[in-house]
Amino acid sequence: MALNLSILYRGSLASCNYGCPYCPFAKRHDTREALARDYAALARFVDWIEARPAGRFKILFTPWGEALIRRPYREAMTRLSHLPHLDRVAIQTNLSCELDWIAACDLDRVAFWCTYHPGEVARAAFIDRCRTLDRIGARYSVGVVGLKEHLDEIDALRAALAPSTYLWVNAYKRVADYYSPAEIERIVAVDPLFELNLEVYSSRGRACRGRHRLRHADLLEPDSGVGEETMQQFNAGEIVTCIPDMFLRHAAPGAYKVLARMPDRNGDRMYRIKSPLEEYERVVKETALVRSDCDLPEEMLKPRPRRRVITLATCVPI
Ligand code: SF4
Repeated sequence: MALNLSILYRGSLASCNYGCPYCPFAKRHDTREALARDYAALARFVDWIEARPAGRFKILFTPWGEALIRRPYREAMTRLSHLPHLDRVAIQTNLSCELDWIAACDLDRVAFWCTYHPGEVARAAFIDRCRTLDRIGARYSVGVVGLKEHLDEIDALRAALAPSTYLWVNAYKRVADYYSPAEIERIVAVDPLFELNLEVYSSRGRACRGRHRLRHADLLEPDSGVGEETMQQFNAGEIVTCIPDMFLRHAAPGAYKVLARMPDRNGDRMYRIKSPLEEYERVVKETALVRSDCDLPEEMLKPRPRRRVITLATCVPI
C-alpha cells in the first residue's frame, strides 16, 4: 500500500518581507513562538516524508507569506530534494532570499515558482536573481500579477528573461471584465496560457478530478482565521493517511478509513478513523489527514476476535 501523493504544503507561517497591495495575506507578524511552532510542524512533515521510502511524492510549498527568507524552509527544501522517493519539491517565492544554498540541492528535483512584484523590488534586481538561478542551473518559472498598471513591466520583464523561462501572468479577477480585448491580446503575446487563467471556473458542487490527485496539507493553527475555505472535508468510507501531528506521533503508519464525522472540537473538524493495524479507533482533527489512493480490504477493518475471554463467576445458592 505504498503512497503516491502530490502534496500542497501550507504551514502557519503568514509573514512576508514584502507588502504587496494586492496581497490579502502577509500583513501579519509571526512571533518567535509562532515561528517555532511552524518550524516544528515543518520538521515533522519532512521527517514523515523521509520515513516513507516506499512512497512517491511531489511537494509544492505554497506559504501564506515568504518562506525562503527562513532558514528552516531552505534546509527543508535541500533535504527533501535529496530523497530518492521524491519526484519534485517546489516552492512559491518572491525570490528575495539568499540563493547560494540552492547549489546544494538536487537540481533535478528542486524547482521554484518565482513571482515578480513591481513596487516591492526593482526589475533589474529581480532579473539579476533570475540570472543567478540560471547560473546555478535551477529550474524556475516567473509569474506576475496582471494588473493593468503592470503591463509595461510585464513586457519589459519578458524581454529581459531568458527565452526558455516561462512568464505566466496571474489574471486579476477581483473586478469583473477587468481587461479590454486589446489588453488580453497583449498579455497572451507574453503568456499564451493566460486565457485559461482568465476564466472563472465554477467548481462548487461539481465533479473535480483534483481531489483525487492532490492532497492539501494545511497545518494552520485552528484559530488563525486564514484559509478555512481551503480545508478539505472527508466522507465516511474515504481512505486517508495521517500527516505528522503532535497528537498522532505514535499512530500506525499507512492508510486509515474514515468511519464518521464527529462534532467539531475547539473549532476543528473532527473525524473517527480506523487503521487495520490498530484494534481501536482514533478521533483526529481534519488538518491531520490527507486523502490516500490506497484501498483497504474490508476484512482488515472488521473487529478482531477478542483474545481473552473473561468467565463471570456464577452465583451458587447457599
Ligand atoms: S511577496 Fe507574496 S506573500 Fe509577500 S506580500 Fe507580496 S504577494 Fe503577499
